[in-house]
Amino acid sequence: MTLTEKVLARASGKSHVQPGDNVWVNVDTLMTHDVCGPGTIGVFKREFGKTAKVWDRNRVVIIPDHYIFTADSMSNRNVDILREFAKEQDLPYFYDVIDDPSGNWKFDVEKGQLKKQYGSRYTGVCHTTLPWKGHTRPGEILFGTDSHTCMAGAFNQFATGIGNTDAGFILGTGKLLIKVPESMRFFLEGQLPVGVMAKDVILHVIGEIGFDGATYRAMQWEGPGVNSMSMDDRMTIANMAIEAGGKNGIFPCDDKTISYVRERVTENGTKNTFDPVEIDSKQSFVYDKVFDLSKLEPTVACHPDPGNRKSAKELEKVTLDRAYIGSCTGGKTSDFLAFAEVVKGKTVKIDTFGVPATTRVVQDLKETVWNGQSVWQILESAGVRLTENASCAACLGGPVDTFGRLNTPMKCISATNRNFPGRMGNKESQVFLASPYTVAASALTGHITDPREFLS
Ligand code: SF4
Repeated sequence: MTLTEKVLARASGKSHVQPGDNVWVNVDTLMTHDVCGPGTIGVFKREFGKTAKVWDRNRVVIIPDHYIFTADSMSNRNVDILREFAKEQDLPYFYDVIDDPSGNWKFDVEKGQLKKQYGSRYTGVCHTTLPWKGHTRPGEILFGTDSHTCMAGAFNQFATGIGNTDAGFILGTGKLLIKVPESMRFFLEGQLPVGVMAKDVILHVIGEIGFDGATYRAMQWEGPGVNSMSMDDRMTIANMAIEAGGKNGIFPCDDKTISYVRERVTENGTKNTFDPVEIDSKQSFVYDKVFDLSKLEPTVACHPDPGNRKSAKELEKVTLDRAYIGSCTGGKTSDFLAFAEVVKGKTVKIDTFGVPATTRVVQDLKETVWNGQSVWQILESAGVRLTENASCAACLGGPVDTFGRLNTPMKCISATNRNFPGRMGNKESQVFLASPYTVAASALTGHITDPREFLS
């Protein structure tokens, strides 16, 4: 069996499953956020009763992160609904924006977008929070009411996005019926050359198979190229399985996975037992291809979809209005460090916005010092508009006052993961997806730029 089949077989109590089987799986973790949480809670209460209790309070994780730092009252109200539910159900893993469990969330417009407006438990983007706070474990099943839940496949688990109805059902039962997907294998050899990042790998692969090339399939990553990648790299790749239509992305478990997970579960006191799935000698794939990482180049997905692949070099005539670094895919500490490596000591030429994925990333950037300056200061000195308010922000547009939102037709190069029309705001705008290196180099020149010009 493939890695995905092995996780699903175990979770459904079977010794063997095959693609197309419909199996009831026991869920290890359910995650929801401020956009889908209120709807999920509504389904749960309607179907299981107003006084029903969730199946396991320790397996429900609620992370407000999408429409947070906005004066939009409906969005603020969504966070309050999550708080009321977490209180009613006595949920230990609710990463609230404010500290008062009886309070109401309201964004302070006077304070502005840049300065911190959250309490001690707030974390930021859900998919980056889950591993940081010790909620991702090898061999487990994670469902989330968000399409990029597949990011947790980096940790050797079956992780995928679901709708509110399925999530409401899980809240009541802890189970879900799921069809076993076919698996595709992406076997990575070699090492990434200078200037090329994990983001380039996934953009290259999606360009190869198309934005629907993995529809309802598992994308399994293997090979020596995977071993050389950090957990952040694997997260970037697994995150974008959905941009090829994938049901999930999944990586083998190695020493890096184990030590990352052990450290986080210990730090946070979350469940510390897990059982990874290993690669079988016999696996059956509907697609199996080797990719040599050393041959890859800085890659860009052009408007209007993530499969519209070109090399950064080919696009040097494309002038830009904005650069953006942030999101679950591109707003991790390692992404910002790569960005800073390119812009340090220089000044960006176009409007450049930086939104750390989590509050931990904010802390890391302030505490990491290069030649007497924090990375945070280096970015600000380069002219990047950095906010302490970690969140999804303009990755998915959001209300009109969202930090970095494309409110007029413009061309933006972005370290995020999705570029369908209107994704970051204005429907006439064009979004070019790229690595943090390429976004940084392009921010310096004002046109799409191969970052190797700035790296030795
Ligand atoms: S950062 Fe973007 S892709 Fe990630 S969860 Fe938020 S909206 Fe979705």
